[in-house]
Amino acid sequence: MEKDIKKSRAWIEINLDNLKNNIEQIKSIIPDSTKIMAVVKANAYGHGIIEVAKYLNKLGINDFAVATLAEGINLRENNITGNILILGYTDLKAIKYVVRYNLIQTILDYEYAQEIENLKLKEKLKVHIKINTGMNRIGESYKSIDNLSKIYQLKNIEVLGTYTHLCSSDSLKEDDVLFTRKQIENFYNCINSLKSLGCNIGKIHIQSSYGVLNYPDLKCDYVRTGIIMYGIYSNYKEYTKIKIDIKPILSLKATITTVKEIDIGETIGYGRTFIADKNMKIATVGIGYADGYPRDLSNKNTKVLINGKYATIIGRICMDQLVVDVSDIENIKRGDTVTLIGKEQEISAEKIANKSETITNELLSRLGNRLEIITY
Ligand SMILES: *Cc1c(COP(=O)(O)O)cnc(C)c1O
Repeated sequence: MEKDIKKSRAWIEINLDNLKNNIEQIKSIIPDSTKIMAVVKANAYGHGIIEVAKYLNKLGINDFAVATLAEGINLRENNITGNILILGYTDLKAIKYVVRYNLIQTILDYEYAQEIENLKLKEKLKVHIKINTGMNRIGESYKSIDNLSKIYQLKNIEVLGTYTHLCSSDSLKEDDVLFTRKQIENFYNCINSLKSLGCNIGKIHIQSSYGVLNYPDLKCDYVRTGIIMYGIYSNYKEYTKIKIDIKPILSLKATITTVKEIDIGETIGYGRTFIADKNMKIATVGIGYADGYPRDLSNKNTKVLINGKYATIIGRICMDQLVVDVSDIENIKRGDTVTLIGKEQEISAEKIANKSETITNELLSRLGNRLEIITY
């Protein structure tokens, strides 16, 4: 699609140089023998899975993680090379496609492994085995050494890896740190028991982004990094043990569609929630909650950036449009560009997510598919 079409209303800009910077930064704090498994689920957290994965391939990243089978197939159909691990569930009826597209399935538990064994696939299914050490979402319990060791003996699967997931690695509170250390210890004890029983556990991995920032010394084969690869923290003003110089790679932009004056006492938008307390100059912007910009940012003194100046969103955010106060911005006109998420403090993903009472992971992964993505 032509750039003029992409930029005709609202769009996302992706700065690939910053992605390169973030990869280098992550590499600088993990052991030399540890590789990055790039987590590109949910359309690469809203950044555009294909563009991001292609660029990562160019940077020499050959390991990817997705949440679903369809995401993995999409990568293969776009010629992404390397290992692609599906972190979540795949229905048994669709498991043959995991093999066909040369993907790797996560084994959720003992029962799931048995069910796959009974499918009698023509080729072995490549898998990583997930061990539950406290997250209690998916994974076979670290305590079930017996059942776990049986999974490794199954004929129809080829075990390439074994992993777990930490549930509080973002917290530096004492009890969370103790719990996390226990998770890590239980994981290592579990794999050591399995090894002593002759199981070939393959590659191991534990940490996602905060695992890397707060527990950087673990010597695993992979780290599964998502959010910090995209150059942002999950939360506003978060403290981590290690600091790295990551840079946000996404900007959310939209176009001013109308500029007008209103009189004192007039109201703006649905429900007339904003009443002008003075004569004002306002601008309508072509982006709304259907594009993933949260509606609960309405009337919360939320800022956007126009021609280098901050403007405030006023009235309720609509499905496809919103209105900002531009009384103090000179020379503003239809067609001007508005930045809603960017590198500047007031419009950083962290700040916007915080205002919306969520984490950046949710904010960005929900950016709508109506937004075109422009990489540069
Ligand atoms: C999403 C996910 C990740 C990536 O998490 P970030 O905090 O974004 O780095 C890693 N591992 C698993 C199992 C996940 O589901």
